[in-house]
Amino acid sequence: MNFQDYNTLLLGGEGVDILRQLRFMVVGLGGLGSFVAQELVRLGAKNLLLVDNDRVDRSNLNRQILYDQSDVGKSKAFVAAKKLKKISPDIKVEAFDTRLNKVNGGYLVSRCDIVLDCTDNFETKKLLNKLCYKAEKGLISAGVGSWEGWVASFPFFKKETQEVPCLECLFPGNTETLGGGDLNLPTAITTVAVIGSIQVQEVINLVTGKGENLEGKTLVVDLRNYQCVPIKFSKNPQCSVCSSVAV
Ligand SMILES: [Zn+2]
Repeated sequence: MNFQDYNTLLLGGEGVDILRQLRFMVVGLGGLGSFVAQELVRLGAKNLLLVDNDRVDRSNLNRQILYDQSDVGKSKAFVAAKKLKKISPDIKVEAFDTRLNKVNGGYLVSRCDIVLDCTDNFETKKLLNKLCYKAEKGLISAGVGSWEGWVASFPFFKKETQEVPCLECLFPGNTETLGGGDLNLPTAITTVAVIGSIQVQEVINLVTGKGENLEGKTLVVDLRNYQCVPIKFSKNPQCSVCSSVAV
């Protein structure tokens, strides 16, 4: 039995087929992105776009599991693509050694169905939110800091039939702290493993149509105190991105 057969047992034939057909974009290939990209491929995703302009640094190796000592100084996007191909040689993976920005963002988002936001800054998160909202794509965002993190899901492809609040509704205006936690500490590998896995679980729940979804709520996780709390939020009628008054 190969690993795809195991996935069929877990996800069902239809779930596996949907995962094979969807095109995923992982933005940010640090701690979260390493887990997210690898888990998607091991679950049977076949089409991936990887976006990151960073190089592998020795200090990344404590938590960024796609890289090792021999990768230091190399492009994260290219190294990640190579490693993922070793796991599943028949995947189609495109690596973009660039920072997603206002110039290339619309094009990149148009090329995929679901965006996994694994970035470490709100500027890019909010840009992805706007672009995905406009293009009606799925967006699964997360933030991490030391031992804490959050995940929220924005399936904008449903927005014609149901109300889907956006990231700007959740974090209006200028937002400073990213994942909570102790700002003096680096992010732990346990945190990115758990939060990245929740992002991928949200993909699974969306494609199989089973279980809960994280739309209209953010799951806040504190690993030090073993707390995992879903916090509901609503569409902001004044939201600058998704309300009827948005420009
Ligand atoms: Zn909104």
